[in-house]
Amino acid sequence: MRDKRIKLIYFSLKGSEVKDFALGWKKLILFSSMLLVILTLLIGAGFSLFTDIYENTQVMSLQKVNESLITQLSVMRSSIDQIKSQVSSLEGDDDERRMIAGLQAVGEDMRLTGKGGPEPDYPGDFDLFPKEMRDEVIDTRDLIDQLNSKITLLKQSRKIVSETLTKKDDEVRHLPTIYPVSGGRITSSFGWRIDPFTDQRTQHRGIDIAAPKGTPVYATADGIVVKVIKSHNKKSYGKYIVIEHSYGRKTVYAHLNKITVRNGTHVKRWEKIGEVGDTGRAAGDHLHYEVRVADRHENPTQFFFQ
Ligand SMILES: [Zn+2]
Repeated sequence: MRDKRIKLIYFSLKGSEVKDFALGWKKLILFSSMLLVILTLLIGAGFSLFTDIYENTQVMSLQKVNESLITQLSVMRSSIDQIKSQVSSLEGDDDERRMIAGLQAVGEDMRLTGKGGPEPDYPGDFDLFPKEMRDEVIDTRDLIDQLNSKITLLKQSRKIVSETLTKKDDEVRHLPTIYPVSGGRITSSFGWRIDPFTDQRTQHRGIDIAAPKGTPVYATADGIVVKVIKSHNKKSYGKYIVIEHSYGRKTVYAHLNKITVRNGTHVKRWEKIGEVGDTGRAAGDHLHYEVRVADRHENPTQFFFQ
């Protein structure tokens, strides 16, 4: 009969005696199983310990990254706040310039709602963020959007202001705002008067400025000389000039002694165009000066800039 036992040879450390003892199959399987379980547990525990250490290191590293990100976010936020205050200052300047240009100031409501440029796209899942951090990120993002819109609006406004001021400047340069003779005095004003030649009540269509013969006469605004008449008719304006300014305005300078411009000459305000005289229907040396707006005679004194 086959022996179901196996023989194990055991060497004692103490001596070299050989003990011969036998184990049954069942005991061996049980013993091996237990050993396997213990080994598995030990490996498991070791792996778990290693994983724990690894994970702890990872968590600590991520925490440090997080802290650093929060610090960076806070630094960025204060930089953005500085930009915000600079934008506010620019908005103040813009409102001032708009006022000078005669444009309405842009209200804060308009500046906040005035969207400019495409809506920015922010990828990423904010739900993964801790609430505080999420709020901070969303707040900062909204602030950047807001500043973006404000800057776009400022750029648009600057363009409009610039265009308006250029137009205004052009308009002002063509407005007859200066006195055409320096040092003269008004001897006859605009409106109804007794005509010195006929003693009749007639309308005086300009103003008379008395000044010595040869006193320079200046163009009262930028424009083009459209008429140069040198009449010797004693009932006329004598030697006279008509300057056309833009916006339907014309000025007339009559009874001149001398004319120093030609028909078609472009003149600037303060440019000498002639000299005071008494040509035509004049009782003495004086300049008869008229302002016409859309071919209607206007009182020239209302244009003089005080
Ligand atoms: Zn007159």
